[in-house]
Amino acid sequence: MKPLVPKYFDAIAPYIPGKPISELEREYGISGSIKLASNENPIGPSKKAVQAAAGVLKDLHRYPDGAAHDLVLGLSQKIGCKTSEIVLGNGSDEVIEMLAQVFLSEGDEALMSDSSFLMYEISVRAQGAVPVKVALSRELGFDLDATIKKITDKTRMIFINTPLNPTGAIIKKREFEDFLEKLGKADPRIIVVMDEAYIEFVRDTDCATGLNYLKGENIVVTLRTFSKLYGLAGLRIGYGVMPKYAAELLNRIRPPFNTSIPAQAAALAALDDKEHVKNTLDVVHDGLDYLFGALKELPVTCYSTQANFFLIDLGQNAGEVYEKLLRKGVIVRPMTSYGFPDFIRVSVGLKQENERFIRAFKEILT
Ligand SMILES: *Cc1c(COP(=O)(O)O)cnc(C)c1O
Repeated sequence: MKPLVPKYFDAIAPYIPGKPISELEREYGISGSIKLASNENPIGPSKKAVQAAAGVLKDLHRYPDGAAHDLVLGLSQKIGCKTSEIVLGNGSDEVIEMLAQVFLSEGDEALMSDSSFLMYEISVRAQGAVPVKVALSRELGFDLDATIKKITDKTRMIFINTPLNPTGAIIKKREFEDFLEKLGKADPRIIVVMDEAYIEFVRDTDCATGLNYLKGENIVVTLRTFSKLYGLAGLRIGYGVMPKYAAELLNRIRPPFNTSIPAQAAALAALDDKEHVKNTLDVVHDGLDYLFGALKELPVTCYSTQANFFLIDLGQNAGEVYEKLLRKGVIVRPMTSYGFPDFIRVSVGLKQENERFIRAFKEILT
């Protein structure tokens, strides 16, 4: 008998998200805890975005504008691309899924780094395609040279994440251009997906972005999201910027109403809220500087970062420290599932949250 689902479904492990605060507090019998675990915006959403979302609630009996005309226009003006080059998703997660659905079939290979965002692997496997992992560089960056070496005649897609979650490493312009040149020689039809969920936090001016290569020889798709800098993770809205023909292909299978009325309105308002963006960047950058200064005095190794989170190597299995932090009401992300059993990932919080983390961490380590 034909199996109920294709055999390759057996290989899909479900995505395990960080636990919500309420669940952890119940489990540990604590309250008033702080969450520095999911790279969310510490200051919250833009007030203008909240107002815009609230303002459209009276229209909830209507279907959304499936083409999201106003938001797509706003984005195209901000990015400097055509509206026909943008595809919106229910989070950039959904754009990843659509890319895999359109461009991958059974037996194809998609390259990605070790310990990368689990949605790449899930979306690739759901097509019966094969995720091929590339080890990180010694500095825990994305290894572009090693990626080129893994290309076979089955390779169809390469997922690059810059800044890289969970390490915070970026790709420099020159490195990326060398990579594209080598890739063009190997096979210019391989699709490069640049997941730039955290790129707005980058302070290094030499950071590459896929947006600069939209018109080049290679097929470069850039993914961005409203979940991090703009603080709208709960509304689920992100987008991809890609050559027009690719956008047209994705739009053929895109669920027609995949972004909601409040999400579209809030995203458009957030895009224009310069003050909220500036405040967020100030809090994140000041927070990083404070945390790195304070951690220098502790017997741990911090990895430098361009994102709103960073890795700490504890030099010992992190499970116990993670639990002790939890009991003090500080939630961070253990990195065992990413292949770093000795590491925790800390998302930058508000000033008082960062200070509370440092106090708790010091008590535990000394
Ligand atoms: C948070 C994150 C995203 C954003 O996902 P959304 O679906 O837009 O919320 C994408 N990629 C990576 C690596 C992330 O960490």
